[in-house]
Amino acid sequence: MQRDAVVALSSETTHHAQKVLRLRVGEQVRLFNKECGEWLAELTGLRGREGTARCLRCLRQAHDGASEGASEGASECASEYDGPTLYFSPIRAHRIVWLLSSAVELGVSRLVPFRSRYTNAHFSPARATRTLRAAVEQSERLTCPVLEAEQPLCAALVAREERLLFCAERGEAANLRDAIAEHAETRRMAMLVGPEGGFSDAEQTMLRACRSVVPVSLGERVLRCETAVLAVLAYWQAFREGTTTASRRAKR
Ligand code: SAH
Repeated sequence: MQRDAVVALSSETTHHAQKVLRLRVGEQVRLFNKECGEWLAELTGLRGREGTARCLRCLRQAHDGASEGASEGASECASEYDGPTLYFSPIRAHRIVWLLSSAVELGVSRLVPFRSRYTNAHFSPARATRTLRAAVEQSERLTCPVLEAEQPLCAALVAREERLLFCAERGEAANLRDAIAEHAETRRMAMLVGPEGGFSDAEQTMLRACRSVVPVSLGERVLRCETAVLAVLAYWQAFREGTTTASRRAKR
């Protein structure tokens, strides 16, 4: 991307700019994606569903590590950096928005919705994608996490992970801090949080028998799914990203 390059906006973005943000030609916006980083741009055309903008100034370079490809069956753009993968079970309406937004803000690179015995909500990939995009913009990420298709929870699914922290509210489980410290060097870390109804006995047995799975506790109280997601990812981020975040903030 270069200064003065004119880029075409997607019809969705053009619609959003005109009808929701009520922007007009000549106004400035920030555009970003994983290939080009973030640019200050001026709207040069907005007609119907077609929009264009001229790039004025680069605000943020694309991240070096943003080249990892989308995984099989994924529906969204490529992952950001080396954030963890989150396995989650669909929950109802506004609470899934909260869960997904927290996951994006806290740096996940891949999301895997799964159905298990007590999953009690329908999953809408279209609605989830809208939530992810909004959270990406809000949190000033350059990329959207990969969203995989929903699949049944089974041993083969979790076995593809190198290390998977299974958030277990009952039974034997490692202290989260110890588990993260022990496995922090794992290249691709994943976390798994259950549905509102928790896991059946058979599912727990299956998970615990899997070599890649490490059961972890998030404390003595039973948390809601979205709180559990936030808790495990916030701790991971504090542990892993403390120093990099500080240096990036200093550059802003
Ligand atoms: N209704 C279930 C609780 C489900 S909580 C029951 O009462 O048994 C939803 C999910 O959040 C759980 O499956 C688990 O993955 C996670 N979770 C909640 N509290 C937790 C805790 N204290 N430690 C680890 N994981 C927890």
